[in-house]
Amino acid sequence: MARRPISISIDRLRGRAPAQKPAKLPGDERSCPRCETHFSAQEFARNVGVCAACGHHFPLGARARLDHMADGGRWTPIGEELRAIDPLQFVDLQPYPERIRSAEAKGNTEALVCGELAISGQTCVAAIMDFGFLGGSMGSVVGERFARAADRAVELGCPLITVTSSGGARMQEGVLALMQMAKSIVSLDELNDAGLPFIVVLAHPTTGGVWASFASLGDITYAEPGALIAFSGPRVIEQTTREKLPSDFGLAERQLEHGHVDSVVDRRELPARLGSLLRILHQPPRPVPSLAGQLAANGSEGAARIARALPQLSRRLRDRVLGEGPQRGGQ
Ligand SMILES: [Zn+2]
Repeated sequence: MARRPISISIDRLRGRAPAQKPAKLPGDERSCPRCETHFSAQEFARNVGVCAACGHHFPLGARARLDHMADGGRWTPIGEELRAIDPLQFVDLQPYPERIRSAEAKGNTEALVCGELAISGQTCVAAIMDFGFLGGSMGSVVGERFARAADRAVELGCPLITVTSSGGARMQEGVLALMQMAKSIVSLDELNDAGLPFIVVLAHPTTGGVWASFASLGDITYAEPGALIAFSGPRVIEQTTREKLPSDFGLAERQLEHGHVDSVVDRRELPARLGSLLRILHQPPRPVPSLAGQLAANGSEGAARIARALPQLSRRLRDRVLGEGPQRGGQ
């Protein structure tokens, strides 16, 4: 029996016309939606998708982000061979495999691209989401690639960095997509047990199951300016509660005020900021001078002699206590 397509558009259900896309500019020019400045594709790439006039952050693909963050633009992919399957044979307006094929035609193989790289000379592993691939949705491949990235960070003994941009779990994979929330958290537990840092950069938008799982578990959490960070977007909440929300609801700057984010960082400064953070977090252990050594260095030779004798005194005291213990019991 042929499956009946499911309409998922709220606008369509409510009989409204979907929002119009802005008119395409001639050639490779782009226009900033905030300040309406026009710029070429070369300028766009040079500024890593940030408007040079007003600082508006455009969406940026995962590979462009990795090229920008990695020293010399060099990184080694992790889990690239993994591809989505269609276990539920899910059909909405079109079958799931067709959606995957159209998304792949834009140049990516999934909504998460992982790689091994160096930032300011510090080795790390990065797991970067791509909103251009089915809205950055988290399915089985995203979860598995994330777990492999975390495993690789544990093997290398280095930090894991993620840049998130996602509408949430991938509905075409149903409960299998929701399971990736737990899976990603378990892999972070292993990173944590190995004493390795997890750094999160929240890009626009980070919502749903991704925000409700690994994106909110960073040891250090940065966000890009103007990024929407929330479980549900303001439009969905307003439609449900029929209440007007503040204009900055869920935005990075508001999340910073409320302590959900440690710093709002301009994308152009991100590699330098991550580089200094990695240096601080991942310094090799420095030998700590002994107490006796410190006292001798300060000219207190007498105190230094006592400090040197302390371990021996404490051993003798312990032997005496343990040796006298049975006698006190009268045996
Ligand atoms: Zn602008």
